[in-house]
Amino acid sequence: MLKRSAGLLIDWHGHFIASMIACSGAKTSEEVRRATLTIKILSYGTLVCLLMTVIRFRGGGGLDVWVSGFGAFSFFSLLTILFLFGRYSAVADLSIALVLALIMLMAFSDGGLLSRVLTWLPALPLMASFIGVRVRAMSACILGVMGLLGLLAAHSFGLIENRMPGEPLVGRMIAGIAAMFFVSAIAQAYESARQDAELSIIAATTRAEQLAQLKSDFLANMSHEIRSPLNAMLGMLRLLKRSELDQLQAERTQLAYSNAQSLLALLNDILDLSKMDAGKIQLEHVVFDLNCMLGELGEALSVAAEEKGLELILDFTSVSHSMIKSDSTRIKQIFTNLITNAIKFTEQGEIVVCISIEPCDGSCVSGLAGSRGIDRDSFFILRGEVKDSGIGISSVNQASLFEVFTQADSSITRTHGGSGLGLAICKKICNAMQGDINVTSSEGQGSRFYFDVVVARAADVPSQDAFLAPNLTGLKILIVDDNQRSADVLAKQLSLWGADVDTELGATSGLSVFRAHLKTPFAIILIDFEMPDIDGVTMVRLFREQFPDSQCKLFLMTLKSSALNMQKLPALGVDAQISKPITLAGLQRVFNV
Ligand code: ADP
Repeated sequence: MLKRSAGLLIDWHGHFIASMIACSGAKTSEEVRRATLTIKILSYGTLVCLLMTVIRFRGGGGLDVWVSGFGAFSFFSLLTILFLFGRYSAVADLSIALVLALIMLMAFSDGGLLSRVLTWLPALPLMASFIGVRVRAMSACILGVMGLLGLLAAHSFGLIENRMPGEPLVGRMIAGIAAMFFVSAIAQAYESARQDAELSIIAATTRAEQLAQLKSDFLANMSHEIRSPLNAMLGMLRLLKRSELDQLQAERTQLAYSNAQSLLALLNDILDLSKMDAGKIQLEHVVFDLNCMLGELGEALSVAAEEKGLELILDFTSVSHSMIKSDSTRIKQIFTNLITNAIKFTEQGEIVVCISIEPCDGSCVSGLAGSRGIDRDSFFILRGEVKDSGIGISSVNQASLFEVFTQADSSITRTHGGSGLGLAICKKICNAMQGDINVTSSEGQGSRFYFDVVVARAADVPSQDAFLAPNLTGLKILIVDDNQRSADVLAKQLSLWGADVDTELGATSGLSVFRAHLKTPFAIILIDFEMPDIDGVTMVRLFREQFPDSQCKLFLMTLKSSALNMQKLPALGVDAQISKPITLAGLQRVFNV
C-alpha cells in the first residue's frame, strides 16, 4: 500500500515537472536544466512555506504567519505565471529576488540576525548561478550583501534587536559577507568551467561534422571520377571477351573483367554510402508492381543459385496489394543484397524469399515527414525476408553486422569477396523508409534476414497494369517436386486462385497418387524437372505410357540451365514448360492460355 502510494506520488511528481517544463518555453538542454531547477525550487518553496504557515499559525500566529503565507503565495504565483506565460528566465530572476526578500523578512520578523539568515544567505549566489540566466551569482551576492548591510542599519536604528547581544554583530556580518563571496566565487568558477566544457563539446562536434562532410564529399567525388574510366575499361574488356581468343587469353580477360566488375560494385557501394551519410539520399515515389519486380529479380539471380545447385523459392502468397508507390530501385537493392549474400554463403539447400504487404498501424506513419493529418490507410508495411540454409552467423558477429565494413568472419572475405558495405546500405535504406532490418541466425544452421519499410498505396492504377490472376476455381492440380518447401509455396499460391491442390515429393509416388484418383482425376500435374528418383522428362514418358487416354495436362518445371527446346515439348508429351524460380508472371503465362 505504502509502496504503491509512493510510486503514484513519484509518477505524479514526474508528470507535473514534465508538463511544467513543456509550458516553460525552454528548448535547448541547458534551458531545460535551468527551467527544471526553477520549477523545483518554486514548487518545493510553495509546499514548505505552506507547511510553515500552518505550523506557525498553530503555534500562536503573529507576523511569522504572514511572512510564510506571503512566501507560499508568491512562490505559487510565480509557478502560475510560468504555467500561463512560459518565460522561465524572467520567473527565475523573480524567484531569486523573492528568496532574498523572504530571508530578509524572516530575519526582520524574528527580530534579529539569526543564524538562519547567515546559513541561507550564502547559498543564494549558488542557486542564482544554477537557475538564473541574467541574474548571475555576483549580482545575487551583491544583493545579499546589501540586504545584510540593510539589516545592520535597521539594527543600528533600533528597528530590530539582536537577540544575542553578547555576540559582536559586525563580526558576524563580516563573516557572512565573506562566506557569500566565497560561495559566489566557487559558483562562478563552476559555471564558467561548465560553459567552457559545453562550448568545447559544441566546437568539437561541429568540427567532426565538417570533417565527416568533407570525407563524404571527397569519397563521392573520387568514386565518381574513378567510375568513368572503369566503365570504359569494362566496355573494352567486354569487347575483348567477344573477340577471337585462345583459352589462356580468354581466362585472363575473364579474370580482369570480373575484378573490374567487383571494383565497380565496391565503388557504387561507397558512393551510395557517402551520399546517404551526407543526407543526399533522395527516395523516388513511383508506382510499380511488386510481384513483377521481385519475379524479374529472382529470375536474374537464379542463374548464380543454379550454378551452386541451390533452389531459389519466391513466396508471394502474402502480397495482398502488388501495385504500390515507393522507391522500387531501393527495394530491389535490399533484396539483391540479401539474396546475393544468401547465395554466396550457402553451399547446399534452398533460399526462400518471402514478401508480404500488411496494413499500416498508427506507429508506422508517425515517422513520416509531416505525419500529422496523414491517412494511415494510404500506407502499407512491406515486409521482406530472405532465408537460407547456409553457414550462418554467430551471435557475437550478428551484433555488428549492419555496421560499415563489417564482415562476420574476415577469412570469408578471402573465399567469398565482398566489402562489408551491403548490409550497412540496406539498413540505411530501411531507416530512410521508416523501417528496419534484422537477422536471426545460428552457426551452421543458416540465416534469416528480415526487413520492413513503409510504402504508399498506389491509387488509381489502370487495371491493365495490374496482374491478371488466373481463375482456377475447382481445378484439381497435382504438384510433384522433391523440395517440400517449393511445392508448398506453389500449392498455396494456386489454392489462392481457387485450385484444389495436392503435393507429392517424388515421381513414383506422384504416379501412384494419380492412379488412386482416377475417378476424380487431376486436370494438371506440375512436374519438377530434377528429382532424385525419376527425373521430370522420364515421369512424363511413364505417365503417357501408363495413362494413354488421360486428358490431364503436364507442365514441366525446369531450371534455366535445363530448359527444353519449346519445339520438342509436344513430342515429349509435355504441354507447357515453366521455369524456376516460379514467378506469378510465369504461372500466368501457362495457366491463362
Ligand atoms: P559483403 O557481403 O560485401 O561482405 P555485407 O554487408 O553484405 O557485405 O555482409 C557483411 C557480412 O555479413 C558478410 O561478409 C558475411 O560475413 C555476413 N553475412 C551476410 N549475409 C550472410 C548470410 N546470408 N549468411 C552468412 N553470413 C552472412
